[in-house]
Amino acid sequence: MALLVQKFGGTSVADPERMRAVADHVARTVRRGNQVVVVISAMGKETDELLRLAREVSETRPGREMDMLITAGERKAMSLLCMAIADRGVPAESFTGSQAGFLTDSTHMDAKIVDVRPERVREALDRGSVAVVGGAQGISPERNITFLGRGGSDTTAVALAHALGADVCELYTDVSGVFTTDPRVVDDARKLTTISFDELMEMTANGCPKPAMRSVEYARTHGVDLHVRSAFTWEPGTRVTKEDDDMEQAIVSAVVHDASDAKVTIGGVEDRPGIAARVFRALAGEQVSVDLIVQNTSEAGRTDISFTVPDDELATAMAVCEREAAAVGADEVTGDPDIARISVIGAGMKTHPGVAATVFETLAAHDINILMIASSAIRISVVVAVEQAEQAIQVLHDGFRLDEGPAYID
Ligand code: ADP
Ligand code: ASP
Ligand code: MG
Repeated sequence: MALLVQKFGGTSVADPERMRAVADHVARTVRRGNQVVVVISAMGKETDELLRLAREVSETRPGREMDMLITAGERKAMSLLCMAIADRGVPAESFTGSQAGFLTDSTHMDAKIVDVRPERVREALDRGSVAVVGGAQGISPERNITFLGRGGSDTTAVALAHALGADVCELYTDVSGVFTTDPRVVDDARKLTTISFDELMEMTANGCPKPAMRSVEYARTHGVDLHVRSAFTWEPGTRVTKEDDDMEQAIVSAVVHDASDAKVTIGGVEDRPGIAARVFRALAGEQVSVDLIVQNTSEAGRTDISFTVPDDELATAMAVCEREAAAVGADEVTGDPDIARISVIGAGMKTHPGVAATVFETLAAHDINILMIASSAIRISVVVAVEQAEQAIQVLHDGFRLDEGPAYID
């Protein structure tokens, strides 16, 4: 008998018909002799709807009340699913995050899990019930309800799988697994049968929305096996595993994109020790999260510094830089929100030179100008103009022939 954690995203339970389809699947899994714990998201776009309501009703939106409001979406979904499972002759009990033993810190709208003590979930399983747990929620030391943030249900599922010692954590979504690139952008994007945690971490950190980055990090740290699959076709999806030294490693597994950044450039700044330190300390002081940083070689003792920030922090970053530029005598500050970061990811890059050259050649052959470059051991990222992003993704996907299969080391 296996113990499975099955997580269903918002689209998977968007309406009564979808809810019943999920109940069928859960009941079938139980009849095959498994113990099942379900983690569920709010139905469809309900989380967005609750956030919209809060914005319409209130200007201040106190964190405690926001968390109480948002987590109501999951609470509604979990009890409806239990009813549908019960209709199929399988006992099911719903639990809020707090009842399921999710202890968190007190950061409202973005709480971190501190401990998971799922006694009540275990007792339900021992009674022969399916336990259905509301995703993305817990309770703070002050005994307030907390929300783990957008995409938090994936983290609930992984943390619960770890705490219960489940055999696998299945993340059901509206696509059949993790793809070589966003299937909405590239028609011939291909489902990956397996992918390593390290590669998936890089993918989610660089724009792939599925699974939520924090959940992948948690699974990697705690060695929880993941299976990302479709709640519509029920076919086998993508298995996420530890990298195995004997495993054949793809040079390139995926191309991901992130258009949520903007670029800031401080032009004509003096090239001497302490300038970058001063500017980036000031940015940190205003809570601006800086990602990619590039400094040009200096000409006549002057240089340019460019960096990326999230779109919604551009205005703050510009204000800080204009202030600092005036103080250190730089020429000008420019901001550009219309950029996208495209990243090529593959574990085999570590031992296979030439991937960067192929990326640059492929883009050059299509007249796509590279604005910035960054890399890690298993990733090469380029920043391009947002209007060239889709083409860049397509030509890199074609260039590495990802539609045919992973590009393996020969
Ligand atoms: P859920 O609601 O199930 O939690 P999301 O809606 O947050 O899931 O994310 C699923 C979406 O992510 C898919 O519909 C898909 O279009 C998109 N996506 C983008 N890039 C990828 C990729 N490389 N592999 C799989 N899905 C991707
Ligand atoms: N419903 C929440 C959201 O959409 C949490 C989740 O589903 O992960 O962000
Ligand atoms: Mg979603």
